[in-house]
Amino acid sequence: MKRRGKHLVLLILAALLIAGCSRPQQQRLHHAQLFSFGTLVDISLWGASPAQVEEAERIIHRQLQIMHNAWHAWQPGPLTATNQQLRSGEWFVCPPAVMPLIVQSKQLYRRSNGLFNPAIGQLVSLWGFHSDTLPQGPPPAATAIASLLAQNPGMDAVSVDGQRVRSTNPAVQLDFGAFAKGYAIDRIVEKLVDAGIGNAIINAGGDLRAIGRHGDRPWRIGIRNPDRPGLLAGIELAGDESVFTSGDYERFYEYGGTRYHHIIDPRTGYPARGVRSVTVIHDNAAEADAAATALFVAGPRDWYPIARQLDIKYAMLVDDKGTIHMNPAMAARVQFETADQPEIILSKEL
Ligand code: AMP
Ligand code: MG
Repeated sequence: MKRRGKHLVLLILAALLIAGCSRPQQQRLHHAQLFSFGTLVDISLWGASPAQVEEAERIIHRQLQIMHNAWHAWQPGPLTATNQQLRSGEWFVCPPAVMPLIVQSKQLYRRSNGLFNPAIGQLVSLWGFHSDTLPQGPPPAATAIASLLAQNPGMDAVSVDGQRVRSTNPAVQLDFGAFAKGYAIDRIVEKLVDAGIGNAIINAGGDLRAIGRHGDRPWRIGIRNPDRPGLLAGIELAGDESVFTSGDYERFYEYGGTRYHHIIDPRTGYPARGVRSVTVIHDNAAEADAAATALFVAGPRDWYPIARQLDIKYAMLVDDKGTIHMNPAMAARVQFETADQPEIILSKEL
């Protein structure tokens, strides 16, 4: 009896093992799309339990709700309330949801020589991007752009003292569009890790953070071709990494044959020139997001020193002629998916 019991246990164990090995990969990979508060998020989880999948969806939904309500650049909420108070020039208690973004973006503003500048909300609004529908007509008048630029809005004018903030420049209007998605993805990943999830990709419109692996191989992601539908390149990710791309194709309108897109050069007041897209790989999503925007503004000539100041180790810029500018470590990781190998200009190591 005892012996037969032992055999039975061994048989069950063997059956479980075989079932585990032959289980199709799809069963271990959970893939879902969530459309929450105007943002489409793709989640891929490897080896998560049904309870963890449910928890992940709840975490993402909640974080997107915060992003939508607290950091919206033009719909009334904590950020628009903060902007209203900043105009007064007086100290006020900053909404807690907004404060950490101010603190972190002040640093990133400095380290990017002001090219990442979330204080230029008035300029972004003047260009017509604080609206769900984009302009049909001409770009703003040069005089209106010049007069905003002359007021020199920047994050250095925003002071922080404990819970209170104030601005010494009434032209400052905060817009975290270049940074909030990354910040939100970082918060999502923190909570997923707390929930015991170790292998995941959170992808919001091509901007993503990955943790862990896809079973026995690394996660592999695609980078969009800025010129046409389809992929420019694929990249394998090593554990915890974020990949963010800023592109002139994301939000734009055309007038008189010219494309006016949403990434504004704070030095000129006009959409940044000479670049189609910038992709950055970094260990956290908020900095990757800010850096992709800053390098886009910096352009093909100046991206390298800015990437160094931001401590970015992998960057790739596609210029308006389709030439790829990147550092050697990035070149070692990208696998181009285009029919023809693009022209590549390698920088020094970052
Ligand atoms: P991203 O797609 O991450 O490059 O962010 C672009 C968004 O950030 C725009 O829609 C604006 O809301 C805002 N933005 C535009 N230009 C800048 C800039 N130079 N620095 C910071 N934020 C900007
Ligand atoms: Mg960005």
